[in-house]
Amino acid sequence: MNAAQTTLTPIDNGEPGSELVIRMVNVQKWYGDFQVLRDINLEVRRGERIVICGPSGSGKSTLLRCINRLEEHQQGHIVINRVELTNDMRRIDAVRRDVGMVFQHFNLFPHLTILENCTLAPIWSKKYTPKEAKEVAMAYLTKVKIPDQANKYPSQLSGGQQQRVAIARALCMSPKVMLFDEPTSALDPEMVKEVLDTMVSLAEDGTTMLSVTHEMGFARQVANRVIFMDQGSIVEEAAPAEFFSNPKHERTRLFLSQLL
Ligand code: ADP
Ligand code: MG
Repeated sequence: MNAAQTTLTPIDNGEPGSELVIRMVNVQKWYGDFQVLRDINLEVRRGERIVICGPSGSGKSTLLRCINRLEEHQQGHIVINRVELTNDMRRIDAVRRDVGMVFQHFNLFPHLTILENCTLAPIWSKKYTPKEAKEVAMAYLTKVKIPDQANKYPSQLSGGQQQRVAIARALCMSPKVMLFDEPTSALDPEMVKEVLDTMVSLAEDGTTMLSVTHEMGFARQVANRVIFMDQGSIVEEAAPAEFFSNPKHERTRLFLSQLL
């Protein structure tokens, strides 16, 4: 066991009272005739750190996007922090306040400063005063180690710095869960580590995290569960030690062999 694993907060693993943050039950989704999610069942409890991997096109991004209703599922149930996602906009807003999302391409607002990127949603959606929002933003920009960039614009920052801003911006909403969709795959190699280090640090703080990534070192170090998806289904899930040393499914073995 390495140092990072020993410092992680213990997870409340399904004991009575442990909080279910995400619950997906028999979720099915189609794009036209194409079924992109097949009978997805997934429970994420507070403090869990889950890594999802799988081939390109297997539905990983779609799964994450259904959790904050960037995409709509057609069958089954998705319940986030006790609120079931339906077409009711109040529910969707409530869920989005609880779910932070970090994308591959950062998606910062280019015409706003770093600080403004971080204060916009808390002021509009959480009704923070500008002063409160600024204090929270500066605390998280300090956490991701770039408080000195607060008054710059996104284009003036490196990719790794922009992604750390995107993480800080999501954290400013005090989400119940953070979703990461391949947060390092658009970065130059020398910037991958600074973003992964930030994510490790969040994990050590006890943040509930669902991360799509092919960074298997991160998965080993941080995840308590690794999920493998293929062709819209969850094919296999296990603790990382088991997942990497003894994958059960042939498709998982093939996928892992191709990563090396
Ligand atoms: P992954 O993130 O695992 O690469 P995605 O969830 O992005 O997979 O996509 C799964 C499949 O759904 C792919 O075949 C992709 O082409 C298709 N797809 C994704 N988004 C759409 C869309 N908006 N309309 C139609 N097909 C889509
Ligand atoms: Mg994807």
